[in-house]
Amino acid sequence: MKRTHNNGELRISNVNETVSLLGWVSKKRNFGQLVFIDLRDRSGIAQLVFDENISEQVKDVRNEYVLNVTGTVVERKDKNPKLPTGDIEIKVEEVTIINKAETTPLIIADETDALEDTRLKYRYLDLRRPMIQKNLMLRHKVTMLMRNYLSELGFIEVETPILCRSTPEGARDYLVPSRISKGEFYALPQSPQLYKQLLMVGGIEKYFQLARCFRDEDLRADRQPEFTQLDIEMSFVEEEDVWNVVEGLMKKIFKEVKGVDLPAFKRISYDECMANYGSDKPDLRFDMPLKDASSIFANTEFKVFASTLENKGIIQALPVKGCASNFSRKDLDKLQNYVKVYGAKALAYLKYTDNTWSGSVTKVLSDEEKDALYNAYNIENGDMIFFVADKKKVAQTALGALRSKLGKDLGLINDSKYEFLWVTNFPMFEYDETDNRYVAAHHPFTSPNLEDVDKLMSDPANCYSRAYDLVLNGYELLSGSIRIHDQQVQAKVFEAIGMTLEEAHEKFGWFMDAFKYGTPPHGGVGIGLERLIMILSGTDNIRDVVAFPKTASASDLMAQAPGPVDSKQLKELNLIIGKAE
Ligand code: ASP
Repeated sequence: MKRTHNNGELRISNVNETVSLLGWVSKKRNFGQLVFIDLRDRSGIAQLVFDENISEQVKDVRNEYVLNVTGTVVERKDKNPKLPTGDIEIKVEEVTIINKAETTPLIIADETDALEDTRLKYRYLDLRRPMIQKNLMLRHKVTMLMRNYLSELGFIEVETPILCRSTPEGARDYLVPSRISKGEFYALPQSPQLYKQLLMVGGIEKYFQLARCFRDEDLRADRQPEFTQLDIEMSFVEEEDVWNVVEGLMKKIFKEVKGVDLPAFKRISYDECMANYGSDKPDLRFDMPLKDASSIFANTEFKVFASTLENKGIIQALPVKGCASNFSRKDLDKLQNYVKVYGAKALAYLKYTDNTWSGSVTKVLSDEEKDALYNAYNIENGDMIFFVADKKKVAQTALGALRSKLGKDLGLINDSKYEFLWVTNFPMFEYDETDNRYVAAHHPFTSPNLEDVDKLMSDPANCYSRAYDLVLNGYELLSGSIRIHDQQVQAKVFEAIGMTLEEAHEKFGWFMDAFKYGTPPHGGVGIGLERLIMILSGTDNIRDVVAFPKTASASDLMAQAPGPVDSKQLKELNLIIGKAE
């Protein structure tokens, strides 16, 4: 085999050179004695011309055959401005057919009409599509930038175990039965959380890893059962130190990949974020904040609002500029159903057009209330206000979801913008209604705010933590925290989430023991690599940025995993497949 150039790199400056190329036939056209072939490799496509002296040799060649050619680069008569190599073609003098190909089950081009299941079953063919190749090259570029940037700052990459004890990130574990310790299981890491903290106890000081993480959760468009995190941990740091490292890294990546200079990242506390945007991962590419209208309705006679306020709920409002003519009655009914998914009982609305109010609650609200809304939200003709009256969290979340839907539907999002936001000061705990207990909002190794340590047991609902998220365009790009480094505080946090000391010791004793021997203060982050690459490549399908992804039901259609195992393997593991209670 001979190769002098990559196909996609040839230009007019190569005219008259003799070149040897390799690749796959992506298109073949016969014009009498002349045959044209587009030869594709990872770098792109070059057009080959076979004249009457040689075309006979490629008469049986079909798409996806593998060829090696040698020829002379010539200027094209009919140039193709859409192709980087469109000014030239290669007049072939020698051709070797290296391998044949059957008709492929999918068209190998960016515009393929294949169903996703077919693409995943034949992923090795799907991978030949330029779009997927571009994404994988981008992913490589970004991981190289990460490695180089962190290495230059003195971080070292350390691998942590895949077969390990359960690491609590709040998801379900993937379990692996042990052959030697019968009846016992390893868990695959949900993240390297405990190990990276132990690396800090071990004096590593600055650690990173492109770490595979495994979570057995129900899948969504931006989730895979296994994924990669850029996992970072640092000793002797506070929030600012961690944020500086991350901001520097993001600035570098966005400069190198997108050519944009990012401004300093905005910061907002969790409470403020929920109050303004009804979400802890708001898309700030458009404004449209939520407003708490409770005080306007403090003395309202409208029963629904009044009883919500009596029950310590809020009247959440979402004023939307200039959209009054965008929604028919039917559309507004659909929006009703939309907010119900988020637990809201109803969506009320007002329209202001031709200097008059209309809408579902016009009649039940007083003129004073409508005037107050008009003034407070700078209402103009064409504006609308949506309302949800409910418990604070439900009202915020429902209108927050509506805010992001309307942002998209009304075309308010500028795709070329990158809006980063640090969300800080998260609550320490969340109340789990099904289990009737508090659970760690981040993970139980997150440090409470120092002033809240004494309230951990007595007032968990009002404890805040040193956790932070970085949000980009409505996606949670990372979460992280300053960790607990004090054994007593760690024990208290376990207790607050309903774990007895014995339980905590049974599960995490191996981890907590380490805290006896001089643990440095430490903190870090886990950055979701796939989400970052999705944003950088502009796809909303996580499978476009993973070489061999799983389907929404967590299976690998190509390798047919998960699959059955033979009885000998089960016997060795001392396992019997039966029906659990
Ligand atoms: N382990 C955390 C996570 O996976 C990240 C961190 O706190 O560093 O979300």
